[in-house]
Amino acid sequence: MITSSTVRGTSLFNVLRGRRVTEAAPSPVAPRAPAGDRARAPFPGSAQLRHVDAGSCNGCEVEIAQAFAPVCDAGRFGVRLVASPRHADGLLVTGVVTKNMEAPLRRALEAVPRPRVVVACGDCAVNGGVFAGAYGVSGVVADVVPVDLEIPGCPPEPSAITEVLRELTGR
Ligand code: SF4
Repeated sequence: MITSSTVRGTSLFNVLRGRRVTEAAPSPVAPRAPAGDRARAPFPGSAQLRHVDAGSCNGCEVEIAQAFAPVCDAGRFGVRLVASPRHADGLLVTGVVTKNMEAPLRRALEAVPRPRVVVACGDCAVNGGVFAGAYGVSGVVADVVPVDLEIPGCPPEPSAITEVLRELTGR
């Protein structure tokens, strides 16, 4: 916005220059694939994930969206969300697995070509969270498909999601 101070010579650039407008990149979780160690990453440099909501309250989805928004920008570390499991290197699964989603989750994983990875995102996906034992629940993600990485939290913060996803690419 152009203000009278801009006209007087205090430009918007000078105002913003004194403020930090971005956050530092989250560091990757160490021993699996430290930053720059692509040799230890399962998908060095680039990983495509298909998101599956197996029974989430959608809180985790909000945080995943923020992980790919400008502040964390998981895309700059080579991670992308794709529309089809056939285009993916793995699944990013949220929520407990409801009885209605058990078969679709298995089918989604079968559609992912090998080698592949499954990331369980959020307490519900990892240990059932607040929905553990509920009447419509089959179990946690690991009860239905093999899980390689877990992101705890209810919901996990975008920076925590980004940190774990960086383990996939080693960036
Ligand atoms: S972990 Fe929390 S935010 Fe995520 S789906 Fe479960 S209740 Fe919702």
